[in-house]
Parts: sequence; structure tokens; C-alpha cells
Amino acid sequence: MIKAIKGFNDILPEQSAKWLHLEAVLANVLARYGYEHIRLPIVEQTDLFARAIGGATDIVEKEMYSFTDKSEPPTPLALRPEGTAGAVRAVIEHNLLRGDTPKLWYIGPMFRYERPQKGRYRQFHQLGVESFGSPLPDADAELIAMTHLMWQELGLKDEMRLQLNSLGELDERHAYREALVNYLTDKHDQLDDDSKRRLTTNPLRILDSKEASTQAVLVDAPKLADFLGAYSIAHFEQVQTYLTALEIDYEINPHLVRGLDYYNKTVFEWVTDKLGSQATVCAGGRYDGLVGQLKSIGARDDSNDKPVKSEPAVGFAMGLERLLLLIDAVAPFAETSACDIFVVTHPEVYSAGINYAQKLRYDRPDLRIKMASATSLKAQMKKADKSGAALTVILAQQELEDNTISIKNMQTGEQTTTAQDWLSHAENFSI
Ligand code: ATP
Ligand code: MG
Repeated sequence: MIKAIKGFNDILPEQSAKWLHLEAVLANVLARYGYEHIRLPIVEQTDLFARAIGGATDIVEKEMYSFTDKSEPPTPLALRPEGTAGAVRAVIEHNLLRGDTPKLWYIGPMFRYERPQKGRYRQFHQLGVESFGSPLPDADAELIAMTHLMWQELGLKDEMRLQLNSLGELDERHAYREALVNYLTDKHDQLDDDSKRRLTTNPLRILDSKEASTQAVLVDAPKLADFLGAYSIAHFEQVQTYLTALEIDYEINPHLVRGLDYYNKTVFEWVTDKLGSQATVCAGGRYDGLVGQLKSIGARDDSNDKPVKSEPAVGFAMGLERLLLLIDAVAPFAETSACDIFVVTHPEVYSAGINYAQKLRYDRPDLRIKMASATSLKAQMKKADKSGAALTVILAQQELEDNTISIKNMQTGEQTTTAQDWLSHAENFSI
């Protein structure tokens, strides 16, 4: 038998009700902040991700699903490993930034070739948000406030800790990078293998190494915070001032650097203690350079005669599988059945039954009404028992002659006979 690919999961009906509910709660909060929905392709040119995320990141080096299709000449393509690159590409391509500051959200599958385990899959789902056009710290704070409200609505407020850091501007980070590399080069022998490699490719990532020996070396390492300029410091302090005013607790984690190159200034993560090492449920930050950087690909270099327009942005993405694991562990959604009323009909008068159910669906859009196929009454009753319905309506020859229906209360087993249009009136039965 052909099976699903490792790390690619089916979301079965038993789970999908939770997904729909979660998505509805999140979409509701996004609407309350006036964010607009965007739907983006799952496949983009590989180059978009390589340029946006950075060539020396785990995602681009090891985790991307890339391939060529049948076009001539072949173009390297990739399944999207994250959403920001595609969102920025779309915003540039469709000129959404002209005179506007779009605030966008998207939801859907992302793909990374990683070792599958709890909370880590090869196809997983993110809800992502990108807020364009504001360089000011209120935009950063708004995103954090919005996620905070999402946790509140999901009953997770006490499970999530907010970690913050500032990566400063590119030149500040470069100066820091040099100081860090100098310091760690002397201590090369004490680093784990991954960190040794990163020393030449992506040294800042060494800061979030999980190896105890590496963390011990880092205790006396130069601190990124000491390399930030006045503007970066003021921005970071203002974000914290807004969070304090909003009564949102946070911790500053000087080792929070994020795995993607495009971030500057504020970065943040929401972490939980309940998911083992897959602790980060939501992560984001500011990326003021990315729009300009992707715009300039292939453009003529005439930047000398035009003032450089800053095109700031800030965003985040949350992993929906991790969020659902956390919800199941600490604040599970109430169980709901997919059916309120089950209509059982004698097979000889089945067309009258279809008709009754159809009319009821018109009259009562609030109810979920199910039928079984035209098998024996007994077989249909068995299905009704299993359906989770509150009431079963039974229609046989006698009922049709009398213009009535028999109603069985599935909880008590009590059965009554009543007028055929009894359920059409919402006051007689509501859920
Ligand atoms: P991690 O350090 O756990 O690999 P990351 O830094 O690679 O996370 P991001 O690129 O910031 O993750 O993605 C944002 C969120 O998407 C993560 O915080 C997580 O909730 C989720 N996520 C990332 N990779 C996976 C995956 N392979 N499976 C499930 N969820 C994931
Ligand atoms: Mg990762």
C-alpha cells in the first residue's frame, strides 16, 4: 500500500474540527485589529528564499524542498519553508506599498526537511502576519499585543512567556559579529561541531546553541546589547514601554537571534514549558531591509540620484501544530459532535424523508442535520446512535399518514410524536 511521506501528516476528521475552531478564533482576533487576509502560492523560485532568508541559514542550507519543473530553461523552484519571503514578493509585485501600509495575514502549509518528532514535521502549518510601512516601535508592540489577545482567547495566557531581544541594525550586528568571532576563535576547541561550522557561516546562531559546553564559553563573550547604537536602543526601550503600558510581561533574552537573516531591531518569541524542546510556538521580529533588498534584485543601480526610501516591516509566524498540542495539553476545546438532528426514514418512504430533511435545513440553518442511506430502520437507528445527535426524527408510513414525526431524545431515550413542522420553529429546539 502507498503511504503518506514521513513527516507529512493527514489531519483526520477527529482533529480537523479543532483546526477549524482554532483558525476561526485566530481570524477573529486578526479582524478585530483590521488585518487583511492574503493567499500566497506554495511554490516560489528557490532564489527568493535563498536571498530573503540567507544562504547560511539552516532553512536554506539543509531544510528546503527544491526541484525544477519541466519549463525551459529549468528554473529552480522550492516548496515554501516560511511565508514572509512570498508575502514580501507579492507586496512588491502588486505595488501594495504605494501610498499604503498593508497589514496582512496568511495561513497554510510550510515545508522543511527536518527530523520529524513531536511538534516538528516536514509539512507543518503557520499563521503568519506581516505589517508593512511603519518604522516605529508601536508596530512591533501591536503585533505582540495581538498575539497576547490570541492567547487570552484560547485560554493560554498563563502558558506563554514572551522573550525579547534587539538585533540592532546591520552595521551594529556586523561589528558585534566581528567581536564575537574574535572571541570564539580563541576558544575554538571548546565549541561543539555545529558551532565550529557556524563560526565561519553564521556566528550569531552560536548564541542559541543548545550545547552546555558552548553555552559555558558564551558566558564571558561580548554582548550584542553593547554594540547597539542610540536609535536601536531607543526603539527597543520604546517597545518595552508600550508592553509595560499594555501590562504584557516579557523577559529579555540576549541570546535570542532567530534563524533567518532578514531580522533587525526587535525580535521576539512566545515560548512554553509544556512542549519539551519544541518550545517556541510563535516567533517574529522587524525586518526593515528585506523589502528594499528584494526590490533591488535585477533593478538598475540608480540609487545615487534617488533618496533611499525606507520600507520597514515587522511580522511573526506561529506554528499551528505546536499551538494545538499546547491547547490539547492545557486548555482543550469543548468536544462537539458534527450532528444535532438525525433523520431516520423507512426505506419505502425515503423520498419523503429526504424532503423533510431538506426543508428542515432551509428552515433551521443553525442545525446540523444528517441522514443515513436508505437501509433498514434498524441499521439507520444504529447510525443515529453513533452520530452524537441530540434528537433523532423518525419518519415511517404512520407518521406520513398522520402528518407527524416521532422524535427520540437521544440522551433520555424518551420518544414523542408531534406535528411535522415542530422543529421548524427555533423556540422548540435550540442548541
Ligand atoms: P525551531 O527553532 O523550533 O526549529 P524556527 O526558528 O525554525 O523554530 P520559525 O522559522 O521561526 O521556526 O517558524 C515559526 C514557528 O513555526 C516556530 O516557532 C514553530 O512554532 C513553527 N515551526 C517551525 N518549524 C516547524 C516544524 N518543522 N514543524 C512544526 N512547526 C514548526
Ligand atoms: Mg527550525
